[in-house]
Formats: sequence, structure tokens, C-alpha cells
Amino acid sequence: MTTYHHYRPEDAAEWDRTDPLADLRQHFTLPPGIIYLDGNSLGALPRTVKARLEQVITEEWGRHLIQSWNQAGWYEMPRRVGDKIAALIGADAGEVVVADSTSVNLFKALAGALRLRPERKVILTEAENFPTDLYMVQGLIDLLGGIHRLERVSIEALSEAISEQTALVLLTHVNYRTGAMHDMETITAQAHAQGALMIWDLAHSAGAVPLHLNAAGVDLAVGCGYKYLNGGPGAPAFIFVAKHHQREFIQPLSGWLGHTDPFAFAPDYQPAEGIARAQVGTQAVLSMSALECGIDLMLETDMSQLREKSLRLSAMFMDTVAMNCPELTLITPRNPHQRGSQVSFCHPEGYAMIQALIAQGIIGDFRAPDILRFGFAPAYLRYTEVWDAAQALIRVVKERLWDQPAFKRKNAVT
Ligand SMILES: *Cc1c(COP(=O)(O)O)cnc(C)c1O
Repeated sequence: MTTYHHYRPEDAAEWDRTDPLADLRQHFTLPPGIIYLDGNSLGALPRTVKARLEQVITEEWGRHLIQSWNQAGWYEMPRRVGDKIAALIGADAGEVVVADSTSVNLFKALAGALRLRPERKVILTEAENFPTDLYMVQGLIDLLGGIHRLERVSIEALSEAISEQTALVLLTHVNYRTGAMHDMETITAQAHAQGALMIWDLAHSAGAVPLHLNAAGVDLAVGCGYKYLNGGPGAPAFIFVAKHHQREFIQPLSGWLGHTDPFAFAPDYQPAEGIARAQVGTQAVLSMSALECGIDLMLETDMSQLREKSLRLSAMFMDTVAMNCPELTLITPRNPHQRGSQVSFCHPEGYAMIQALIAQGIIGDFRAPDILRFGFAPAYLRYTEVWDAAQALIRVVKERLWDQPAFKRKNAVT
């Protein structure tokens, strides 16, 4: 029998009063009357975005047109913003570039890594990995003629499953369903002990938990711009290639902006030195400008304070709800070393429960088949909001407020 910590509303109020990150919230635009527990899916809007995009549109694009590639720094932008992300994830300048989507970056990372281990044919991952990670591997295996094999195992069985057949281990650092966080350093070391490479998907980690990619010896990583980095819907993603792999790292999407000299317009592909070879084509300047606003806010924030607040928010929510709603099954680890910045519960009527909460202005989301998912973006959430959200969820469950036909109709995006 688990003993949960008993939180009181006064605790939440006190923590808000003494929160060293309290001022950060005013740098985001948040609609009134909404408690937003979905920053893990789409981060909130930084206030600076509007003025920055206005400037890019009016001045850089509207007035200076094509000259802005040089004069406004558009051309270097993927590497420049990549360097800023590097500082957030424990990487060095020149190891990260902003490009494409997470899915496309996965493809590049996977294909490049397989070339580094040509004699090995197994790609090992967690069975519960995010679907796009699994799908991108499947597509790549098919493209390469079906000589590779994707092995999906439970996270508990993973370290045993790494062998001298394993070309690479692909994991999402914080599982999107359960919020469980994997031990980056230990698993990376286990992969290396067998001669395998390690690729981490940081979609639910970057901007949410402290990361030390180089200290952990990570080979390759990808991450998402629109979740905890607050880059906006469909924001460009990023890819990390450790410096010592860059010379050998060849990815198959050999577009002109990954070429050593794009404006020589040479007929043959010659990969650029360094991380630029992970680029493909022209990037979305407007989207990347918005993303940079989100990154800049994160760079000004103390990541250990952010982590401490995130853990306290999620602990308060999970214990308060779990204690009062035995009907819900908590699937997120209570151990703070083993979870990211989200809390998930299971219930067969989870979808309707989430809809009932949304009707009250409390936004979480649902993941099939039965998961109620709540993300805690410590940059802009207050403790009292999270307290109120927990109380609302308890009422939805206890008073069966979810049990209405309108809450059971499925939307395309859940
Ligand atoms: C959100 C997410 C992605 C997103 O991929 P896109 O290509 O941006 O759609 C990828 N991997 C994981 C683990 C995610 O959570």
C-alpha cells in the first residue's frame, strides 16, 4: 500500500509566494481562465514572439527581401540557434543544428549511425517508444533492403538485450505515455560496452529536465522545438551529433545546404565539415525566429530551479489525485529520479474525463488507449493552479462529471 504525501492548499500558496521562477510566467501569453497542463505537447507562447515575427516580416522579409539571408543572419540561423540549444542540453557549440522535424532528424540520425556500424544489423528500442520513432526505423529498414531488424523490448529487458549484434540503441529519454525518465548515462554506457551507438530522442526532455549529453557520452540525439522549448506549432526540431562522430557521420538526405559549399553549385555532393552536414535544405525562417524566442527564455532560466519546481508540481498533483481517486491508476514513477515533467493516470473512461476537464478550462490530454496525461511546464505554471487542477480532476472522477455523451465523442487530435 503506497503512502502518499498529504498536500494542503496553503502549501501551494506558500510555494507561489516564494517561487524563484515566479517572474518567468509574465514572459508568456496565457489565456485567462485556463490552466494549461499540456506544455509537454505544445508549449505556451512567449511574449517576445509577436514583436520578433513582426520585425522579421516587416523589416527582414518585407524591406530587405533576399538580402536578409546575409544581412539578417538567416543563413547561419540553424547553426546559431543550434548552438543555443547545445548550451541547454549539455552539448558544445557546433554539435547541434536546428532543422526539419523530429521525425526527419530521426531518419538522418538512424541512417548515419547505421553507416558507422556497417557489420551490425540490430536496432534496439523500447517497445513503448513513441510511434514515429518506431515508424522511422521501419521505413529505413525497408529502404535498406530489409537486412536490418528492429528489436522492441521492455525497458526492464533493454540492458540485457544489448549485444555485439546491436548497431544502435534508440530511446526516448522521457517516455511520452508514462513520463518515466531513463538513465541516460547508464544506458549509454551499456550500449557502448557492447560497441553499439546510442541515439536519444529528447522530445520530452529538452527544456524540462537538466541534460548533459556530452558528460553521458551520447553519440546522437534529436529533439523537438514545440514542446518545452515553446517554439510554436510545428517549430523546427534539432539534431545533435557528437563532435568525434562528425567526420564519419554521413546522412542520406544530401541536400544542398548540407554541402560543403552550397553556393559553388557543384554537381557532386560533398558533405560540409561539422554539424552543417546534418542540414538538408532551406529552413523555415519565420518558425525558427519564433523558436529562438522560446530558447532565449530558457537560456535565462536556471535549469536546476526549473527541475526542482517541476518535480514539486508533479509530486503535489500525483499524490493528491492518487490519494483521492483510487479508481485512477498512476503509471508515472513517484521516484523523482525516474520521471520527467509529466504525470499520467490510466482509466477506461480517460478520454471523457479529459474532455470534462477541458470543459472547465483545465487542459490536459489523452493518449490511447486509456491514458490521462498532464504536463507540468514549470516556466509558466503556478502551484495554486496545479492544486486547483488536482481538485477539479478529483471532482470529475468522484462526481462522474465525465459521464456525458458530449465528452465521449473523439476528436481527430486527442
Ligand atoms: C513529439 C514527439 C515527436 C514529434 O515528431 P514530429 O516529427 O515533430 O512530429 C517525436 N518523438 C517523440 C518521442 C515525441 O514525443
